[in-house]
Amino acid sequence: MICMIDLRSDTVTQPTEAMKAAMMAAPLGDDVLGDDPTILLLQQRCAELFGKDAACFVPSGSMANQSAIRAQTSPGDEIICHRDSHVYCYEAGAWAALSGCSIALLDGPRGQFEPEDVAAAIQADDHHFATSRLLVVENTQNRGGGAVWPLRRIEAVTAEARKHGLRCHLDGARIWNASAASGVSLAEYARHFDTVSACFSKGLGCPVGSIICSDADTIHRVHRARKMLGGAMRQSGILAAAALYALDHHRDRLVDDHAHARRIAESLAGIDGVSIDPDTVETNIIYFDVQADAATVVELVESHGIRMLDSGPHTIRAVTSLAVDDSDMDVVCESLPKVLACR
Ligand SMILES: *Cc1c(COP(=O)(O)O)cnc(C)c1O
Repeated sequence: MICMIDLRSDTVTQPTEAMKAAMMAAPLGDDVLGDDPTILLLQQRCAELFGKDAACFVPSGSMANQSAIRAQTSPGDEIICHRDSHVYCYEAGAWAALSGCSIALLDGPRGQFEPEDVAAAIQADDHHFATSRLLVVENTQNRGGGAVWPLRRIEAVTAEARKHGLRCHLDGARIWNASAASGVSLAEYARHFDTVSACFSKGLGCPVGSIICSDADTIHRVHRARKMLGGAMRQSGILAAAALYALDHHRDRLVDDHAHARRIAESLAGIDGVSIDPDTVETNIIYFDVQADAATVVELVESHGIRMLDSGPHTIRAVTSLAVDDSDMDVVCESLPKVLACR
């Protein structure tokens, strides 16, 4: 079997030996009974990092978003988010199924929108209409090519939402990458939102886990939502230990993932039949278009030991992470032009 260079997602990372050692060494309790010391430590650490009162650990990013939605809405409420957002596209319609909400979709380049778009989506306070309740912003924006929201735009859209009495949720699955790329602190991003979710199982390289940070009352409601969704766990400190390890050891290296993504984008840019603007690659996600059928190209590239995902008829996604290193990048940047030439 040839050795695969896996660029399908930053979720494919395996825990390192040092991370596994930290997990094995962690003191554990019962988090449903509220006494797992490693969970408590992680929640406190995250609350501090994001400048919030409290935090709640959950198994997945989807549960983080859906617990935050459940905690801040009632049936008949409406959520406002971008058409390309994870909450809308990739969480099985949970906003409707689990929280009884409707959803208003915004458009805009790279998964971003403007305050006027928010204003236009707000429903009048009239008994005919759903109640506009919650704005969701995704940073970095996955389907937007890993784009980082400018802080100014975040300030503007959340201020507009607040003017109409809405709450604001940040889907920060990759907020670590946004912060590493922009230099804006996690707390500065979080300041504009009532709730923030972040994933440990992507660029930070943990096997499992996400966090939600907010004020104490909201986290109290998030806890209830987590229980309802089946996400309250027992000796989950073993997972929190991985997250604590990652906060200490895997955040500084995210800039390497971004440099790797940039290298791949530049190597793709010169290829006939491939279209990509390397300047749009701000973090660890690369989307590029091919003239040929994307699924066929992905298969061809895979036969040369490089895995990517087709994400549209002519669109391919590659993501860099802890799973790939400098020497993998040498292989990728040498192979792709050869393999993709004349596709
Ligand atoms: C991956 C992701 C999620 C959900 O994470 P899971 O752990 O896969 O449920 C949420 N939002 C964004 C932007 C993501 O990329």
